[in-house]
Amino acid sequence: MFNYKFKLIIAISLFFSQLISANASVKININIEQPEHHLALVELKFERVNKNHINFHLPTWRTGRYQTLNLANGIREFSAKDSYGNVLSWEKTDKSTWQVQDTENKKIILSYQVYANQLAKRTRHIDDSHAFLDSSSVVMYSNVSRGLAHEVQLIVPNEWRSFSGLETGANEHQFIASTYDQLVDSPIETGINEHHQFSVDSRQYELVIWGEGNFDSAKMVKDLQILVKQSKHIWQGYPFKRYVFMVHATSGAGGATEHVNSTIIQRSRFKFSTRKDYLSFIAVAAHEFVHTWNVKQYRPQGLVPYDYQQENYSSLLWLVEGSTSYLQYQLLLRGNLMTTDEFFTTLAKRITAHRHKPGTTSQSVAQASFDAWISEGGDYGNNHSVNIYAEGFLASWLLDFDILTKTALSKSYRNVHNLLYQQHRLPKSYQEEDVLNILEQITGEDYQAWWQENIEGTTGIDFRLLLAQAGLEMSYGKNINDESSTKSKVWTGLKTKPNTHGLSVSSVEKNSPAWHAGMTTDDIIIAIDGLRLANKEIENRLKDFKPKQSITITYFRRDKLRTATVQLAEIPKNKLKIIPMAKANEKQKAFFKVWTGVDFPQKK
Ligand SMILES: [Zn+2]
Repeated sequence: MFNYKFKLIIAISLFFSQLISANASVKININIEQPEHHLALVELKFERVNKNHINFHLPTWRTGRYQTLNLANGIREFSAKDSYGNVLSWEKTDKSTWQVQDTENKKIILSYQVYANQLAKRTRHIDDSHAFLDSSSVVMYSNVSRGLAHEVQLIVPNEWRSFSGLETGANEHQFIASTYDQLVDSPIETGINEHHQFSVDSRQYELVIWGEGNFDSAKMVKDLQILVKQSKHIWQGYPFKRYVFMVHATSGAGGATEHVNSTIIQRSRFKFSTRKDYLSFIAVAAHEFVHTWNVKQYRPQGLVPYDYQQENYSSLLWLVEGSTSYLQYQLLLRGNLMTTDEFFTTLAKRITAHRHKPGTTSQSVAQASFDAWISEGGDYGNNHSVNIYAEGFLASWLLDFDILTKTALSKSYRNVHNLLYQQHRLPKSYQEEDVLNILEQITGEDYQAWWQENIEGTTGIDFRLLLAQAGLEMSYGKNINDESSTKSKVWTGLKTKPNTHGLSVSSVEKNSPAWHAGMTTDDIIIAIDGLRLANKEIENRLKDFKPKQSITITYFRRDKLRTATVQLAEIPKNKLKIIPMAKANEKQKAFFKVWTGVDFPQKK
C-alpha cells in the first residue's frame, strides 16, 4: 500500500512549486438562481499556477458515506476562461475530471450549473425554501488548490438565512474554509430556518431546523445542552469552539451525517413527539456528536488523507461506526437522556438481531469494514454479511467488558478512544497495530489473540456470560434467565410484505424451515394448505399450527405457480428482555456503575 507520508510530501512539494502567489485562496460564488428547479450557478476563481493544464475534479463520494455516489452527474454547462475573459479549451478525461488547457501563469475562472435534488443522500438539495450544500457535490478542486483557503459567497433569495460550521466572512452568506478538506466537511444550510443558540463549557452551539413537524425545539435545545456536556466522560478536550446541529424535518428523508464541527440529521417531520421517536432522534444526535472525535479527529490510515477520487479502504471501519454506536449510549446514559430500561430494550434488540443474522458466520467485522464500499443490505446481506454498525457495536461491547475485567474496573474502552484522540489526531492516523498497542498500554496484556478471534474471526458471543458480569440476565417471559421453559410460537424464517397479488417474501433466513424448503426472496405467497392468505394474515394463520407440523405454501415465482412443504420450527413467543438480576452482588453492581456511569437499577 502507498505510504501516506510519502503521499503527503509529494502533495506539499507539488503545491509550493506550482503556486505563484502567497496567501492565495479560491473564491467561490454559488448563485441559487432557480431554487424551484433545484439549480445553482457556481463560479470558481483560482490563483495563477505554473502548469500548462489543470485537472479539476468533483469527488466521487462524500465524507461519512462510504459508497461511490457519482456526484459529477449533476454538472452541466461547464466553461473555463482566464481573467481577461478568454475562453480556455477543456475536455473530460474521466467521469469526474475536467481537464483545462493553456492554464500557464493564468488566473482560471470555472463556471458550471449544478442540479441539486438529492435530499436523502445529504449531498445537495435546493428547493424554493432552502438549500443544503455539501461542497463535495458542488465545488470542484484541483491538487494544487486543495490546500488553499476557500471563500464561499452565496447569492440567495432575500429572506433566506445561512448557517455552517465554517467561519462567516464579510456578510452572513459568506463563509471561509482554511482548505478544501475543511470546506467539504462543513456543509452549508441556507433558507427559511428556525435557529437556536446555546453555550456549554465555553463552546458555542447552534441548532438550525429546516422544515415543519411535531418537534419541540425548546426540549431539543435543553437535551442537546445535557448531551454535549457528557463528552468529557470519554475525551479530554474539545476539537472545536463552535458546533452546529442541522436538522431537516421533512418527508422522504432520514439518516444523518457527521462533519468536522457540525452534523446534518434528517427525520420524517412527524417522528419527533412520541418517546420512542424522540429517543431515536436524541440517539442519532449522540451518535453524530461522538463522530466529532471518532473519525473527524482520529481515523484509520486508509482514510488519511481522504482520496476523493476512489474508495478509501480500511479494515477498521467497524471502529469508526460500530464504536460510535456503542459510545453514543455512554453519553445518553450518563446524561440521563435514556433510562436503564430503555438501554436494556436496545441491548435486547441488538442481541435478537445478532441471533437472526446468519451472516455473522460468513464475514468478520474486519472484512465487512474493508468491503463497506460495496456492501448491500437485503436478503443476501443478512444471510452472508455483517453490518459494521451492528456487529461493530457488539465488538466494542466485548472489548469494553474485557478491558473493565482485566483492569479491575480502572480502565474501559472509553480510555482507548481518548488515547486515539490524544496520540493519533489528524494529520496523523492509526492502524490496527496502534489500537493493539493502546490496548496493551491500558491493560498490560497482549490483544493479538483476542483480535484474531473477535475482529478477524467469526466466533459466537456468549451473551449470558457477558451480561452476568454487569449483574444482568436475559428473559423471554416471567421466569428470569429461563430461556428454555419460555412459551414458544411457530417459526418459518420468512419475512414478508404485502403485495397487490399476495405476500411478497422480503427475506428468508439461512437454515430456517423456509430456506430448507427452497423458498427465496420475491416469491409471492398466496395460500397456506390450499386456503387463500389475505395480506398481513400470515402471523395469525400460523397460530393454528404447532412446531414440527408441516404446512404447504402455495406461491408464485416469476408468475409460475409452485408449492413448498415447510416443516415449522419454533422461536420464543415473547420478545427478549434484559433484566437486572434479583441477587446481583456488589461486584456486579460496581461493574454496572463503571460501565454505564449510572447506578445499578433498584428492584421494582
Ligand atoms: Zn456513524
